Amino acid sequence: MSSIEKVHCLIIGSGPAGYTAAIYAARADMKPVMYQGLQPGGQLTTTNEVENFPGYPNGISGPEMMVELEAQAKRFDTDIRFGFIEKVDFSGSIHKCWADDGKEIHAETVIISTGASAKYLGLESEQKYLKLGGGVSACAVCDGFFYRNQEVVIVGAGDSACEEAHYLSKLCTKVTMLVRKNFRASKIMADRVKKTENIEILYNTETLEVLGDGQLVNGVRVINNKTNEEHEISATGFFVAIGHEPNTAIFKDYIELDETGYIKYAQPGTSKTNVQGVFVAGDAADKTYRQAITAAGTGCIAALDAERYLAAKE
Ligand code: NDP
Repeated sequence: MSSIEKVHCLIIGSGPAGYTAAIYAARADMKPVMYQGLQPGGQLTTTNEVENFPGYPNGISGPEMMVELEAQAKRFDTDIRFGFIEKVDFSGSIHKCWADDGKEIHAETVIISTGASAKYLGLESEQKYLKLGGGVSACAVCDGFFYRNQEVVIVGAGDSACEEAHYLSKLCTKVTMLVRKNFRASKIMADRVKKTENIEILYNTETLEVLGDGQLVNGVRVINNKTNEEHEISATGFFVAIGHEPNTAIFKDYIELDETGYIKYAQPGTSKTNVQGVFVAGDAADKTYRQAITAAGTGCIAALDAERYLAAKE
């Protein structure tokens, strides 16, 4: 049987958005409770080095940065729980959420910071080098810098892949773009990639295996899906840009999502969703910027909006 717990502010998810919301909500005495989710710390825990978050002049590893953010949220007594919210009911003025630890939580305000997950190909070799931090990445802006003056491969042909390939082309000597059919990106983005000298586009080409020495990536074995010809490409970095999936499925019956599953802001410039008292921060509502610093910024906005909502109710 579940026990009911009443809270002022429930934060669902624990990336930079969630921790920043927690720091602000806790300092405003909202006694926030956070469920960290399946991947405590979020996407940054799969990033090696974060060099573009202000305040870390020498850079910091993604996991380390999340430990620091967690410590900062705890310093102000955020109740941080390892676990996740399985189900919600946002039909009433009290927002009901059920956690995997059996608790039924009745929250006056909810901050959704469940983020998004990068899609990967799912190849064993890709996952191996991703986990080793040995040259597989789903974020060119985060990791491209480590491949300066090197050759890289990028998979995908949507707007993200084009944007990332172009970004990488400024840092790397050569970018090979693997397009399995044709471009899905907008014409302007695809044209820009096509016109960039050091980007080679291989159409009808799919990845068979990410190659390496057991620690670091050193190439990619690909196949032409029309001719079935295989060949190897030399590369020290393997970038995957085949889309992201926002982690919003449990909210879909109550919260308005766009056609790709991202949460829609009810009022631009705020963190408000279509449900009063439910706010969103970070990548769950952002398919454009997706940076730790922008997620942290919207986490702050969500906590301030939640605080004002509670104050107006009193
Ligand atoms: P998209 O879903 O638009 O594109 C995904 C790409 O990945 C497609 O080329 C797809 O190929 C390819 N792909 C998917 N699975 C595989 C696979 N297993 N192997 C090889 N290739 C694969 O995702 P994006 O992240 O690019 O964009 C998402 C949304 O965000 C879009 O609406 C986009 O316009 C928008 N966006 C806008 C930007 C901007 O305007 N600045 C920047 C970034 C994104 P296939 O076609 O063969 O399925």
